[in-house]
Amino acid sequence: MPLIVQKFGGTSVGSIERIRNVANKIKRAVDDGNKVVVVSSAMAGETDRLLTLTRELSSKPDPREQDMVVSTGEQVAIGLISIALKEIGVDAVSLTGWQVPIHTDNAHTKARIKRIDTGRILSELDRGKVVIVAGFQGVSDYGDITTLGRGGSDTTAVALAAALNADVCEIYTDVTGVFTADPRIVENARKIPVISYEEMMEMASLGSKVMQIRSVEFAAKYGVRIHVKSSFIEEDGTWIVEESEEMEKVVVRGISHDLKESRITVVQVPDKPGIAAKLFKALGDRNIVVDMIVQNVSHEGYTDISFTVNKIDAEYAEEIAKEVAKEIGAKGVERNDRIAKISVVGLGMKTHAGTAGKMFEVLYREGINIYAISTSEIKISCLIDEKYAELAVRALHEAFIENTENIVTG
Ligand code: ADP
Ligand code: ASP
Ligand code: MG
Repeated sequence: MPLIVQKFGGTSVGSIERIRNVANKIKRAVDDGNKVVVVSSAMAGETDRLLTLTRELSSKPDPREQDMVVSTGEQVAIGLISIALKEIGVDAVSLTGWQVPIHTDNAHTKARIKRIDTGRILSELDRGKVVIVAGFQGVSDYGDITTLGRGGSDTTAVALAAALNADVCEIYTDVTGVFTADPRIVENARKIPVISYEEMMEMASLGSKVMQIRSVEFAAKYGVRIHVKSSFIEEDGTWIVEESEEMEKVVVRGISHDLKESRITVVQVPDKPGIAAKLFKALGDRNIVVDMIVQNVSHEGYTDISFTVNKIDAEYAEEIAKEVAKEIGAKGVERNDRIAKISVVGLGMKTHAGTAGKMFEVLYREGINIYAISTSEIKISCLIDEKYAELAVRALHEAFIENTENIVTG
């Protein structure tokens, strides 16, 4: 009997009516002869609401207690789905992360899954039940509830699919698949029928939030086949699978944008060995992940060093940069929260030249200034002013996807 994991995102379970719709979908999979494990997110907006409650009491709530609060959204959703299923004659049981249990490390609010005990799930499936697991949560070594970071239900679903050796992991969401750009911004974005793990990982880490990045890393590691599709519209979505030679024919698979970073510049740094080491070691020591780094050409023995960090860390990173600036005799520190990172992603860049030049030209034609550039084998990212983000995404989409005849998206 095939085993499938079906994950439903917040919008898909956003109301009682939608939960009924989800229950009917699950019933169809059961009637088709599948064993079904369901993973659900909290109802739309619920995680944000719970986070706001914690922030009303404290600007820096204790991470353990924050997890205790925000993990409850998923518990409500799984109970409701189970009730809805029983109403239509499908036997079901809901399980929280600790009931499964899904073991994680102790990093509250961004925990990583270490191991999943599948015994309880398998015995419930053997009893003919649909098992509904709370996404986004697990249990630490100390027996405390942890959460897996925003969008973490995707990772719960993929990790369960890997642990249960499921035939497929279906990710149901509010769009019909993974698109060549965020369909809410680019009207002409196209659905991508098949995408490689590597491309999806880049797109997810560069701002395409349709899948949490860790979930794709997990899928790549364990070879989990993912099908991203709509909860509301019956049609084939996007398959995320192992890369094939055929895929390299597509130079640019998609355009991503990310508004979650801030840029920090240390101004007039004495240009001598060891300065960058000092700055970035200080940031690393305090667990701040740095993304892009640019060091300008030196003028009369001085240079500027800019770097980007997640907005959540920006204030702290600025503080650290100020401390280091004082120590090394730099003039000062500037911070800009209104920047955007725009990226083009595609496996074909490995074998086709000219993408960078074309990208810079498109941005130049739109009068958009580039502050920093970073590349990998399959992506090019540019840092620009936030106010030009949508314009840049549309222009790049037009140049690389709409107006490129030899590039197919499938
Ligand atoms: P869920 O609640 O189902 O997990 P998310 O909101 O996390 O859904 O992810 C789906 C959203 O991702 C879409 O509504 C869409 O706006 C956004 N998105 C960003 N980039 C893309 C893309 N390239 N393809 C599809 N969706 C994207
Ligand atoms: N409910 C969590 C969030 O909003 C997890 C998820 O939806 O995947 O981030
Ligand atoms: Mg999501």
